[in-house]
Amino acid sequence: MTFKELNLKEEILSAIGELGFEFPMPVQEKVIPFMLEQQSDLVALAQTGTGKTAAFGLPLLNMIDPYQKQVQALVLAPTRELCIQISNDLKNYSKFLKTRVVPVYGGEDIRTQLKQLDTTPQIIVATPGRLIDLIDRGKIKLEAIQYLVLDEADEMLNMGFKEDIETILASTPATRRTTLFSATMPAEIARIAKKYMKEYTEITIGTKNSGSENVSHIYYISQAKQRYLVLKRIVDLNPDVYGIVFCRTRQETKEVADHLMRDGYNADALHGDLSQAQRDTVMQKFRFRNLQLLVATDVAARGLDVSDLTHVINYNLPDDVEIYTHRSGRTGRANKKGVAVSIIHSKEKFKIKDIERMLGKKFEQQMIPNGLEVCKKQLFHMIDKMQNVEVNEEQIAPYMEQIMKQLEYLDKTELLKRFVSLEFNRFLDYYKDSEDLNYHEKDRGIRRDRDDRDGRSPRRDREDGDNNREKRFRRGQKVRLKVSLGTREGINPSRLLGIINDIVGDKTVSVGDIEITNKFTFFDVFADQLDKVVDSFAQQKDITLAAARESNGYQEKTGSSYGGRERSSTRKKPSYNENDRRRSSNSARSTERQGGGDKPWRNRR
Ligand code: AMP
Repeated sequence: MTFKELNLKEEILSAIGELGFEFPMPVQEKVIPFMLEQQSDLVALAQTGTGKTAAFGLPLLNMIDPYQKQVQALVLAPTRELCIQISNDLKNYSKFLKTRVVPVYGGEDIRTQLKQLDTTPQIIVATPGRLIDLIDRGKIKLEAIQYLVLDEADEMLNMGFKEDIETILASTPATRRTTLFSATMPAEIARIAKKYMKEYTEITIGTKNSGSENVSHIYYISQAKQRYLVLKRIVDLNPDVYGIVFCRTRQETKEVADHLMRDGYNADALHGDLSQAQRDTVMQKFRFRNLQLLVATDVAARGLDVSDLTHVINYNLPDDVEIYTHRSGRTGRANKKGVAVSIIHSKEKFKIKDIERMLGKKFEQQMIPNGLEVCKKQLFHMIDKMQNVEVNEEQIAPYMEQIMKQLEYLDKTELLKRFVSLEFNRFLDYYKDSEDLNYHEKDRGIRRDRDDRDGRSPRRDREDGDNNREKRFRRGQKVRLKVSLGTREGINPSRLLGIINDIVGDKTVSVGDIEITNKFTFFDVFADQLDKVVDSFAQQKDITLAAARESNGYQEKTGSSYGGRERSSTRKKPSYNENDRRRSSNSARSTERQGGGDKPWRNRR
């Protein structure tokens, strides 16, 4: 099928021809004829990056009367960035038409937008909050609206625009035609469609709730504590990676991005603590590929529209499948192949199963590559680059004679060895004795209550930081643990906290209800944080940590029935001081490994 066969105006065909659109994308083949020929409403389930904007934009431009000075079409979008993008796309498609398109969105001085509205446009592209503001000021009138498009409706709901959307829907004429786009179909969307739309047709592009066919999904299993090292391996294994690393919290986003930058990677962070100007700068750098890796929270990455990501990396799995769908839908766009990678720990396998079921797709577990594999990949990437490099004969000509003379005594093999070593020694050194980061059953330090192992404790603190952690701790489920340190090792509550912080590597663990006996200390942790604590302690050779209770109530508090539930240690238990020394030398080692002094690609582009 061609665009011409879709009966679009010549002006539109010329404009999209200039943009290089040759053939309609699947969503366009379905939606354009529907909007042009049918009278009913439409719910279209399509991922971002599938060509949605032209799918609704071209028929809108075809049907709107540019000589009628009234707002005839309204497009609602969840974010400022998407709003600007849709508006720019529509302006490009209507380059040869007289139709006026104006975007209105929050986060920009309202006076500029008021000015732009002095002449009534035919199409308004808006974020819900700012639109309501402008309606309240009497600057936008919706009574002549014939077409309403809700883009990324599920995202608008996720962002809390439900009431605003309902207000807007209720203030547009009942005669309007509504088209709703959504990547997923949660019950709330179905409810809104039922309540506010006339009889509608549902079109699904791809499978419902499923990501693009172009995305392959893989996961690596490691210990939670090794996540960052796994991330580095993944990145090192894919030298041309251009992707987003999704984290759960602002804090984690900052930490991961800081580490990557410190380790010489071309990365930056995008999170809610940045000002709008800072966000814009980071996004712009990423769009122009001046950044290879963008570390972001889900909230901050909304509205960032980049079509050709090679990878989406889930530094942590999200709590629900819809978020996973959104994240992974950011790669594999515009007919390109993409990879969605998740770094998980062994207790999260059930989450992968859930996502597989919902998406109807099989995920592939891959082994985390060892140092040799990474080195080989990097080396041949470098060799490929050398083969393909453009040789600037003219510029290097003046130096060639001297270079030839200086290197005359080296044969080709010797030359290549030196060239490879020059570029590659850092990398070889870094990965020389690299550890196996894969999780093996034998690494399992401790068995936990079934409830906890089943992981019914997803951390919900996406961007909410410390305050909520406190609140959660008060209302959430606690797990009683027992550690093999007591008064004879000089433990008191503050020392216990110090040890936990030291072993976990940060100060985020909330500890409650501490009871210290001669040999053991019992304490509560929030179920959310159990894995983190347990995985960290599992690295300690001389301290054992075990669950102190069965599913309900405490099993015991004296340490007598300790056996069977903990990682047993046959070593002689050292005094706490000796222990302390060992632990600090361990953590010094691990800090170094995390990238302190030993960085493979310091001069990465
Ligand atoms: P969208 O889902 O609207 O954000 O579109 C994704 C990308 O595909 C954008 O960069 C569009 O410019 C591009 N695009 C949309 N339709 C076509 C088409 N028919 N042919 C080629 N590229 C297209």
